[in-house]
Amino acid sequence: MASEQPAETPKTGGSLEDRITKPSGMNATAQDNSKQSWADEVSSAETTNANNADAEKPAEDAAISQTDGAPSALGGTNLHEPEYTVQVKLSDLQADPNNPLYSAKTFEELGLDPKILQGLLMMNFRKPSKIQERALPLLLANPPTNLIGQSQSGTGKTAAFVLNILSRIDLSTEEMRKTPQALVLAPSRELARQIVGVIQVMGSFLEGLAVCTAVPTEKHERPSRLECSVVVGTPGTVIDQIKKRIFLPQKLKVLVLDEADNMLEQQGLGEQCIRLKSFLPKDIQVVLFSATFPPHVHRYAAKFAPGANQLTLQHEELTVEGIKQLYLDCDSDEDKYNVLVKLYGLLTIGSSIIFVKHRATAMEIEKRMTAEGHTIASLTGGIEGSKRDEVIDKFRDGSAKVLITTNVLARGIDVSTVSMVINYDIPELHIPNAPKRVADCQTYLHRIGRTGRFGRVGVSISFVANREEWDMLMQIQNFFNTNITRIDTRDWDEVEDIIKKTIKNPRSQANFTKE
Ligand code: ADP
Ligand code: MG
Repeated sequence: MASEQPAETPKTGGSLEDRITKPSGMNATAQDNSKQSWADEVSSAETTNANNADAEKPAEDAAISQTDGAPSALGGTNLHEPEYTVQVKLSDLQADPNNPLYSAKTFEELGLDPKILQGLLMMNFRKPSKIQERALPLLLANPPTNLIGQSQSGTGKTAAFVLNILSRIDLSTEEMRKTPQALVLAPSRELARQIVGVIQVMGSFLEGLAVCTAVPTEKHERPSRLECSVVVGTPGTVIDQIKKRIFLPQKLKVLVLDEADNMLEQQGLGEQCIRLKSFLPKDIQVVLFSATFPPHVHRYAAKFAPGANQLTLQHEELTVEGIKQLYLDCDSDEDKYNVLVKLYGLLTIGSSIIFVKHRATAMEIEKRMTAEGHTIASLTGGIEGSKRDEVIDKFRDGSAKVLITTNVLARGIDVSTVSMVINYDIPELHIPNAPKRVADCQTYLHRIGRTGRFGRVGVSISFVANREEWDMLMQIQNFFNTNITRIDTRDWDEVEDIIKKTIKNPRSQANFTKE
């Protein structure tokens, strides 16, 4: 994978000037693999020197300071941390031209409708991020042009495509308000529902805006016709609704694929998306967003969105500075469970997501931890429809602080309280007859990107239970040219200390030692 070449040269508009500049601090060299081994018990000094300017402050502050900054309308709890501190830190980040949250312009300068600006104000969006500033002029220009947009996790891609949709739909007549004009496709039910929430809040001041969610539902809940101007859904349900003439797609002007590489790559999803597009107007504006576009999918994406403007990144530019990537050695698969239980206290400082490979592992861990008196919620593809909504809603509102899941939630989910992500199993590709196990670098990036949202800080910890898993982790480290630092589990006080220091200050990046 390390030999993969950067994405193709953009055809139009994208060009080198449009490429998003490399964030500072991203060029730390990967560690020398030969010096580290899973079995190597040598303590790694680099893990114990996390200088923290605020080290003397009690770590318990973290519980308050990581509180969700999302508006309550989006299921967040609004900011409990001092508004002033957060805004100062965010505006520092947004003033740094090397940061992906930087922009030279304001939302007003991007020429948005005042009613949309009101929505942004309500959401406390003060300045665009880099991807928003770059993508919006390309998206809003007429005649509409397709776009392939890439930007690191948590940098505001949703707003970039939602603002285009809200700017393009016509709500001037009752009839148009009931006519689908924009369609957003997402890989999971949870992500589709989240996007609906963002559109509703961002568009709160647009009179007559209605948004429909097209995800699997119980028979008795199924609508006979989608009467709304924006539809967000998963591909299977959308195709089904179009075929049954519940969803009339003739007036669609915009098609967005969020997590586009995933939507186009996966066998099932990819086929569905292509079939679905054949039902849509030929001149529809196609907008593809993701943090990752591996080269083979990128070529494909360029066909799906012909003549697209492109904003792309190199894979070495993709890691987010605020996410501290750690790993720890476990003696065996069974030992992973013991380590997880030891970490439980830390997992509940903010909120945490634990990623496992199989549904069965998620169920098993949930059962064991619950029996031991811990609280843990579980969401996998094995759970049906509205039951899944209950779980994710509990996680969003903070009544469940630890969520165990599979790759079904690896992408897109935005819960700003998430301060820790655990890779209980390292994400892995399944390549028949491969001589060795191959890491799924893209999925790793998306999983850890559930923390560190929009300049916040977070920690990811990957569990390594044998030499092969350690090799996979090194593949990931080399691919992204990043540092994944080993923590020495012989001293748990030390482990706690490192983690607490890292997640203490939302949006403070100053507490990371340069490695
Ligand atoms: P991505 O899709 O790039 O991973 P999201 O669109 O989910 O990221 O945005 C991440 C978080 O950043 C969300 O909570 C969102 O509300 C917030 N956000 C996005 N744009 C801005 C902005 N311009 N100012 C402040 N917060 C923003
Ligand atoms: Mg997203």
